[in-house]
Amino acid sequence: MDFVYAIPLHNRFRGITVREGVLLRGQTGWGEFCPFGDYSDSESVPWLAAALEAAERGWPEPVRDRIEVNTTIPVVAPERAYELAAESGCRTAKVKVADPRSSVAEDCDRVAAVRDALGAGGAIRVDANMAWDVDTAVKAIGELDRAAGGLEYVEQPCVSLAELAAVRRRVTVRIAADESIRRAEDPLRVAVAGAADIAVLKVAPLGGVRRALEVAEACGLPCVVSSAVETSVGLAAGLALAGALPSLDFACGLGTRSLLTGDVTADSLSPVDGYLPVPRTAPEPGLAARFAADDATREAWLDRLARVRALTA
Ligand SMILES: [Mg+2]
Repeated sequence: MDFVYAIPLHNRFRGITVREGVLLRGQTGWGEFCPFGDYSDSESVPWLAAALEAAERGWPEPVRDRIEVNTTIPVVAPERAYELAAESGCRTAKVKVADPRSSVAEDCDRVAAVRDALGAGGAIRVDANMAWDVDTAVKAIGELDRAAGGLEYVEQPCVSLAELAAVRRRVTVRIAADESIRRAEDPLRVAVAGAADIAVLKVAPLGGVRRALEVAEACGLPCVVSSAVETSVGLAAGLALAGALPSLDFACGLGTRSLLTGDVTADSLSPVDGYLPVPRTAPEPGLAARFAADDATREAWLDRLARVRALTA
C-alpha cells in the first residue's frame, strides 16, 4: 500500500533536483514520509510520526478555513523573479538570498524586481538559510531592506540563536527563526527570547500537527507555517497546522506546490489568489502512478521507512 514517488523540481532546492518520498495509507487517510537525503534515520523519526498522525489519527479541529500563503522566489534572474511574483497571485513573496551562486548585489536586484511586481502593498521576506556571519548579515540586511523598500522579515540569517540575537540587536528588520526551532521539550521560550520575532514551523521535522502546536505555545512567538516541499499530501498537514494555530498574523510558506513539476493528487493544493483551503484530510493520491519511483529508488525508500519504523517501535 505504501507508494514511493519521485517528482522532478523546476529549480535545484537544498541541492536536490528530484523530490522523493513515501505515501502511507492509514485508517483516516494518507500521510507523507519524505525526510531529505541528509537526514539520519533518528532525525527522520519525527517525519514518520507526522505521516502516521495524518494516516492513522487525523488532525485537530481548525479555527479558520483558509490560509494566506506566500510565493517563493528561487535564485533566478530579476526578470524571471518579476514574472514569478506577478504570476503567483500572492500578496507576499519569500525571496531566497545568500546562495553561493548569487552576490548581495544580485540578491538586491532580485528583491527590487519582486517589489516592482508586488507593488507597495505587497510584503517581501527573505530567507538566508543560515548562510551569513553576524557582520555580513547586518550589512546584507540593510542593503536588502533598502532594495525591497522595506522587508517584512529575514529568515534564519545565521546558524545559532546567539548569532540571531546579535543580528537582531543591530537591525530594525524582524528576525524569523526556522532551522533553530526544534522540539517542544527544549526550553524554547528562553532559547528564542531576544533571538527572534517570529518562529517558522514545519509539521514533518517537528513530528506532526499536535507536536507543532506544542512548539508554537512553547516558543511564545507569532508563527509562520512552512512546507518541506512536499506533494499535496504533505502540504495538507501544513495547512491543518496553519488552520489550528490560535493566531496567525503572517502569510504561510505552503504555496510550494509549484516548485514541483507535478503532483500525486488530481486536486492539487495550488494557491488561488494567494490563498489555500484548510483540508480535513489529505487529498487522494490518484495520479501517483505517473510519478512512481524506479525500482532501486523504491527499494531504498522502503528500507529507510522500515529502519525508521524500527526506531519508533
Ligand atoms: Mg527557511
